[in-house]
Amino acid sequence: MKRYPFLDLGLVNRRYSDELKHICARVIDSGRYVGGSEVTDFENHLSEYTGADYCVGVGNGLDALRLILRAYKELGVMNDGDEVIVPSNTYIATVLAITDNRLVPVLVEPSIDTYNIDESLIESRITERTKAILTVHLYGLPAYSARMKDIAEKYGLKIIEDNAQGIGAHSEGIMTGNMGDAAAFSFYPTKNLGALGDAGAVTTSDVRLADAVRALGNYGSLRQYDNIYQGVNSRLDPIQAAMLSFKLNYIDEENEKRRQLASVYDRMIVNPAVTLPVDGGKYHTYHQYVVRVKERDRFREFLAENGVETAIHYPKALHRQKCYEAQLGALHLPIAEKIAAEVVSLPISPSCTTAEDAADIAAIINDFK
Ligand SMILES: *Cc1c(COP(=O)(O)O)cnc(C)c1O
Repeated sequence: MKRYPFLDLGLVNRRYSDELKHICARVIDSGRYVGGSEVTDFENHLSEYTGADYCVGVGNGLDALRLILRAYKELGVMNDGDEVIVPSNTYIATVLAITDNRLVPVLVEPSIDTYNIDESLIESRITERTKAILTVHLYGLPAYSARMKDIAEKYGLKIIEDNAQGIGAHSEGIMTGNMGDAAAFSFYPTKNLGALGDAGAVTTSDVRLADAVRALGNYGSLRQYDNIYQGVNSRLDPIQAAMLSFKLNYIDEENEKRRQLASVYDRMIVNPAVTLPVDGGKYHTYHQYVVRVKERDRFREFLAENGVETAIHYPKALHRQKCYEAQLGALHLPIAEKIAAEVVSLPISPSCTTAEDAADIAAIINDFK
């Protein structure tokens, strides 16, 4: 029986392995293992790619989010106990960044069609203490619009993008990473632009924010032995920066291939038991291709029996996680729970899945009864 793996990271990087080895050798020989031109080159490359004025490399995506919020606190924009609006169906890191900064997450339900925050619900949740909307481009679909911008302007809120999943996506000519006031990127190996280890970045066009994030990730200092904040150590390694800068040259091509696989699924899956994703006319980069099925366990078993590996993003809603039991456990979030109960991610990595594979998978799905 033919097998259809969900994701094989070795395969993802095999295509680039000669160049990546060459790049690692260059960094080894350079003698510079923290900071320096490899990091600056990548930061410039990513800020140019997104259109934001500044980019700061950090240790990972969670730190990118945490440092943005911490920087806003240091700059006096936010204080302990202030509220941040966030979708109720994101990856836990988004909310960990809020609570880690002693801010209060206000969970707003997503649209059942786009899986992104339901903008029509935002305004009614704004209070005197609301300081930001932390929007998440979930699965690669931009979660931003002129309407969100208008709400943010009307109430003086920051828009922060969790762009761990949306690199390269765009809408109305604006790239993710340049839609709001600041954006957090993750280059965790499974992301569309993956490092070979942990890595992250912040983009912004606010120079004060960029400087604060850079200082906070470097013990609170921009100049050695001159500490303006009680910072942390969260920097992007030059070896990761060098590999990322190379791989960034291929992100548009990789995303285009993901979109081609998605279009095969879109055209060929016709099983009424399976709800397909929508893009709302935006440039979706399909970090995940997520369908919804009521009898999910039986569906996944059927696919597994036919050699198709799937995954779930994410099986348990945030407010149902043990760590948030006391703080969020009493919330009633039926859309988030429905999504957690019904979503299934199909293979979409262009390194592991061909258009023919996607057609086979669609045919198998159509046989599910
Ligand atoms: C991956 C991810 C993160 C965290 O990134 P790390 O680099 O793993 O810390 C944050 N938010 C979302 C939506 C993610 O998918």
